[in-house]
Amino acid sequence: MLPIVETRPQELEQYRSFISGELFEEIKNLAEGCRGRRVFHVNSAPRGGGVAEILKSLVPLMKGLGLEAEWYTIPPHNGFFEITKKMHNALQGKEYEFPFAARKKYMLHVARTAELMREMKPDVWVIHDPQPAGVAMFLPQFYPSISRIHIDLTSPNHEVWEFVSSFLASYDKVIVSSPEFVKKEIKDSAVVFQPAIDPLSAKNQLLPLESANETLRSFGINPDKPLIAQISRFDPWKNPLGVIEAYQLAKKKIPDLQLALVGFIVAQDDPEAERIYRRVRKKAEKDPDIFLFADITKLGSLAIDVFVGTVQTAADVILQKSVREGFGMTVAEAMWKEKPVVAGEVGGIKLQIEDGKNGFFASNSKEAASRIVELIENPDLAKKIGEAAKTTVREKFLIPRLLRDYLRLFKELV
Ligand code: UDP
Repeated sequence: MLPIVETRPQELEQYRSFISGELFEEIKNLAEGCRGRRVFHVNSAPRGGGVAEILKSLVPLMKGLGLEAEWYTIPPHNGFFEITKKMHNALQGKEYEFPFAARKKYMLHVARTAELMREMKPDVWVIHDPQPAGVAMFLPQFYPSISRIHIDLTSPNHEVWEFVSSFLASYDKVIVSSPEFVKKEIKDSAVVFQPAIDPLSAKNQLLPLESANETLRSFGINPDKPLIAQISRFDPWKNPLGVIEAYQLAKKKIPDLQLALVGFIVAQDDPEAERIYRRVRKKAEKDPDIFLFADITKLGSLAIDVFVGTVQTAADVILQKSVREGFGMTVAEAMWKEKPVVAGEVGGIKLQIEDGKNGFFASNSKEAASRIVELIENPDLAKKIGEAAKTTVREKFLIPRLLRDYLRLFKELV
């Protein structure tokens, strides 16, 4: 069997105040038809990144509704996640000649992983992202099965896409986050819906600003000065160097501006983070107003989720300068906290932000800097954008809606 991530049931009733009666009833009815069904989710990391964040809330809700839902991860293996991170980067558009040795290593490890899945007999499999996708090739009774691809497929590298889409052809459904990610190879099986955030998770609790400020003071951040932040793994697609550039430009107008970059290095499937972090640290080292958070031991007894929520609450502006993004969980989290978000106009973020209404797009550091200055100098504008942002998340990006979308799909398949 695969390694399991322990989860406890969560009752849908807890979410009643966040959703319409209609959605609540629809979920209840759909769940009735799926009661007792075994739904096994498989991904590549029990923590770190958006997928783990979603499963942490989604699987308990499915259990609470009477499904036998479980969350499993694939075991790590020497060098495997180095290869899958390269595949991930290539699928998001990076140049990459996919060597035979890497393909072979990928196949060998998914074959090994599939061996561990042979005795597992769910009513439906939900396999998240390309890391485990290849198991489909080694399991004779792998159906019904859903592949959930969370990444930005706007312009995938041809070679890697060909390789991965050949596995995706074995799945009954392939879920992606934007209609722009529906490539011709998955046209017949594609389903489009976006991820969502959990308003009850520790990270999304609405904290009083004063207590958020107090916590950050203990990390050297001065609550009397303006603060901008990006919460993201240290990853080239998240563009942390671009964030520093935007900050440096904005600081010319707002000299006491502070920047927090939060990207705790915990994900087993992201071996690139250390390297990117070193580059960021070099660019930030001479500026005492840049605060980097990568090492979780720095937090002492404070949970990462609480810290992330605290920074999102205390910041005046949240940045998400991604150059590719399947869907920005961090964008939705900040919007839920009524923060103005300045983001790259890319991938799934285009479905989250309406420029000038509930956030802003910035296509380069200069544009981002001028939005930062505008928002900090104009708190009324920041407030208006933040309020609209929260409404968007309430209407579209809370986890009960995601649960409904999955249940509809299960109903169709099982
Ligand atoms: N996150 C976190 N700690 C960090 C950085 C990120 O808990 O140091 C969380 C973040 O709050 C969000 C998720 O990881 O819930 C990242 O999801 P997103 O979709 O933004 O990006 P991904 O990492 O999946 O590409």
